[in-house]
Amino acid sequence: MADLLPVLIVGAGPVGLALAGDLAWRGVPSCIIERSDGTIEQPRMDMVGIRTMEHARRWGIVHDVEKSPYPRDYPQDNVYVTSLTGYKLGRERFKSMGGDTPPPQSPQKRERCPQDMFDPILRRWVERQGRTQLRFRCELLGFRDEGDRVVAQILDHTTGKHEDLHARFLVGCDGAASRVREQLGIAMNGLNVLTNTTNVIFRDPDLISRHDKGRAYRFICIGTEGTWATIVAINGGDRWRMSIVESPAGGMTHDEIGAAIRRAVGRDFPFEILSVMNWKRRELVADRYGIGNVFIAGDAAHVMSPTGGFGMNTGIGDAVDLSWKLEAMLAGWGGPLLAESYTLERRPIAERNVSEASANLRRMLSPGANPTLCDDTPEGAATRARVGAEFAAAMNHEWYTLGIHLGYRYDTSPIVIPDGTPAPPIEHATYTPRARPGSRAPHLYLRDGRSTLDLFGRHYTLLVLGDQGNGVADSLLTAARKRHMPLEIEPIDDSIVYKAYAATYVMVRPDGHVSWRGNAIENPLALIDCMRGATSNHTSTRTTQVDAVHESRPVDVQYHLPVI
Ligand SMILES: Cc1cc2nc3c(=O)[nH]c(=O)nc-3n(C[C@H](O)[C@H](O)[C@H](O)COP(=O)(O)OP(=O)(O)OC[C@H]3O[C@@H](n4cnc5c(N)ncnc54)[C@H](O)[C@@H]3O)c2cc1C
Repeated sequence: MADLLPVLIVGAGPVGLALAGDLAWRGVPSCIIERSDGTIEQPRMDMVGIRTMEHARRWGIVHDVEKSPYPRDYPQDNVYVTSLTGYKLGRERFKSMGGDTPPPQSPQKRERCPQDMFDPILRRWVERQGRTQLRFRCELLGFRDEGDRVVAQILDHTTGKHEDLHARFLVGCDGAASRVREQLGIAMNGLNVLTNTTNVIFRDPDLISRHDKGRAYRFICIGTEGTWATIVAINGGDRWRMSIVESPAGGMTHDEIGAAIRRAVGRDFPFEILSVMNWKRRELVADRYGIGNVFIAGDAAHVMSPTGGFGMNTGIGDAVDLSWKLEAMLAGWGGPLLAESYTLERRPIAERNVSEASANLRRMLSPGANPTLCDDTPEGAATRARVGAEFAAAMNHEWYTLGIHLGYRYDTSPIVIPDGTPAPPIEHATYTPRARPGSRAPHLYLRDGRSTLDLFGRHYTLLVLGDQGNGVADSLLTAARKRHMPLEIEPIDDSIVYKAYAATYVMVRPDGHVSWRGNAIENPLALIDCMRGATSNHTSTRTTQVDAVHESRPVDVQYHLPVI
């Protein structure tokens, strides 16, 4: 019988690497097969979201991100222009990565770290942990699920040999055109083509000195016909990514691309075109995220417009949700509902994010045609003032998205036990921390300088935030041991944390989401069985011990200052 891999991951993009790294962090070996040689021809993502950075904190790679070659003093402004040398319509100022600080709701902040810097950080972290076999130039051709294992047919392009790999689980992190998804027969639903777009990476070390708008992360170019292009400082130095939002489906010629770059800058100048990528912007979500022993994650499960920077961050959220469940199923304490909960938890988040991303696209294209926009006349000036003000107001929706990144919740999950409190409103720009079951467990600094988030990750964690006299912690520990479910107890004597979490006992999952909270308990074994996916929350005891009136208001939390 062939060796059985615990997990076979298809695709070494950021999501496949994050999954392998998180599994390795949990002590679970895996193998990644990647069709390419690992070279990133054209970096796509460059915004690592705040929640992804919280995961990076747990993984111990925050400093690697902060030390990436992206200059820490490069301002992150968004500037709206008729061209770089033309009229300025507006500017939203953002600090540089080095000058910015985390919001009170998190110990981290979003970071600018383009894919050709971020993927290698993930890859080195995966390699450092020594539990993952990375096989580049290896392509998945097909697979069959035999019930107790998945047998994958692969082609090693280096040796030219075909091989069968046997794995307990297979995860397709193989991108938008996922072969894994296709073979599972899972359909994608949504809007197939929003735009045909051309992305061009060009090099000009002197671009900033060729215009008067100063250093900025992104320039959005609005012509008389409306928004037509963006130019992004992809490495904060000599490389720029121009996106021509609507381009011919068959692509553009070299001359057409050169003319577009000159138009966006507003003058002729020497530049070098490094790469061109024609792509279709889509809004699609897979019907389900797995069948049997095979799962999909990342772009394989959802494809969205980059407007907002949600794509990879959503995918890394998938990886973090799936990883501990795979570990639990491999270890034997995870029940069948864990696999099911993966789709039920992550699919609604993708639905929300793909539609947010498309709404951001519509906002970016909102100026429409304004024939007098570039006229050097009082009427032209009035048009520019109006368009600039309307555009700035609309675009702020894309720039401020804390609720999207931190506020996602697993309200309808079968492994989350509702506490009877009403669902708080969905937040977009703002984020109110709440420990309501299904939510991300809130961050607060503890007196020793750690974040509450630093307590979570390895196993289920029971926060004990008050008097332990009624034996709840002991009974849950006994029940967890009976089911071989690893559980850590964290007593915290801190009224601020108690107030934020709004219960004496709060159970936090290995991915940092609250699964239950209460002040007393009737049937600890039923609760543990639900959390480990053996029975659904519909059959286990529901405990509604939380003061609903208290919880229906935003929690007014005082924060301990971080210890520097
Ligand atoms: C212009 C642009 C800007 C973006 N900016 C952001 C941003 O700022 N923030 C953000 O979060 N997202 C952003 N995104 C989206 C982000 O790039 C994607 O969501 C992310 O790359 C998806 O990662 P993934 O690992 O799921 O898939 P991919 O990155 O597509 O990786 C899939 C991997 O699987 C491999 N593969 C495919 N088939 C096989 C096979 N049969 N066998 C073996 N290997 C296979 C591929 O070679 C590839 O390496 C942006 C996208 C674009 C287009």
